[in-house]
Amino acid sequence: MGSMLERPMRAAILGAADSPLVRRAVTRYGMRLGARRFVAGETAAEFMTAARVANGQGFAVAATILGESVRDSDETRAVTAEYCRLLRAFADEGLDANVAFKLTHVGLDIDEDLAFENASQIAKAAHESGRTVRMDMEQSRYVDRTLAIYRRLRVGHRNVGVALQSYLYRSRADLAGMLELEPNVRIVKGAYLEPSDVAYPRKADVDAAYVGLAQLALAHDGYTAIATHDAAIIDRVAEFADARSLPRRGRFEFQMLYGIATALARSVLRRGYRVRLSIPFGEYWFPYLMRRLAERPANVAFFLRGALTR
Ligand SMILES: Cc1cc2nc3c(=O)[nH]c(=O)nc-3n(C[C@H](O)[C@H](O)[C@H](O)COP(=O)(O)OP(=O)(O)OC[C@H]3O[C@@H](n4cnc5c(N)ncnc54)[C@H](O)[C@@H]3O)c2cc1C
Repeated sequence: MGSMLERPMRAAILGAADSPLVRRAVTRYGMRLGARRFVAGETAAEFMTAARVANGQGFAVAATILGESVRDSDETRAVTAEYCRLLRAFADEGLDANVAFKLTHVGLDIDEDLAFENASQIAKAAHESGRTVRMDMEQSRYVDRTLAIYRRLRVGHRNVGVALQSYLYRSRADLAGMLELEPNVRIVKGAYLEPSDVAYPRKADVDAAYVGLAQLALAHDGYTAIATHDAAIIDRVAEFADARSLPRRGRFEFQMLYGIATALARSVLRRGYRVRLSIPFGEYWFPYLMRRLAERPANVAFFLRGALTR
């Protein structure tokens, strides 16, 4: 999330992401120029290497195959099969890893039942390999369908979680409405450009809502993933959990993105918390990269410096 001042910049970057010209140029040169800071690479083998290193440092990992808004049902089945293969590979190798995926990557733009079927298969493969799986939250137009699929999945699979975005006004009610499920939720601020009729325009409000959601989740049974690089929020959540005598591992975990706030991630780990790094890989890294650049416009300079010094 950007501050008030940064918001036009954020809008400009997310807007540029829709330009075919920008997409072509960045897709051609982006991996060389610096996308690698945020993604493990284009192949599962590159992901596995990054995951082993992260596990060796004490981090759990979450694998994400990059991709979204897929309109071809065969492709959604191929993505589903790849997630299932990954989960089996984690079990075979004993990696401390699970997966996180987007419902539009497995068919939500085509048909809700197709997305549900694919998500069920991933949940089943995760269960068989003794792991959890979380669904990302995408643009606000997908929230109802994502939560509906989450509820349907929870009937047969307790190992499924979903993300909620603190920038949406509705998220508090959404969380309150699912507490009876003892949900597995990941709290995030929200990475998309949303209008002010659905999302807080001011960063201070997004941050305050984040803390409120995290506390509500932690005050109830379930499992909470605190996904943020915001050190102040991490401290507030840690204090809240301590005050309620929640164990540092078992009821919640912190999550951060690969390549961001590495020193912070290490320090949270040293304090005895479980920390999971979300490590994405795959060929369709363009929208993911643009969201990471929009979160911190300084990253654009970093990215462009890569272009100029080569
Ligand atoms: C594990 C994980 C899963 C996520 N899943 C989702 C999801 O399902 N749906 C969704 O909408 N969003 C998701 N997000 C993204 C999230 O919504 C935010 O856009 C992102 O985390 C940045 O916000 P922040 O909480 O780090 O706080 P901010 O206040 O934005 O940042 C706090 C500090 O972190 C650092 N920082 C933040 N972003 C960057 C960056 N890109 N590059 C360098 N430094 C940075 C800066 O130092 C900044 O001062 C996820 C994030 C994480 C960590």
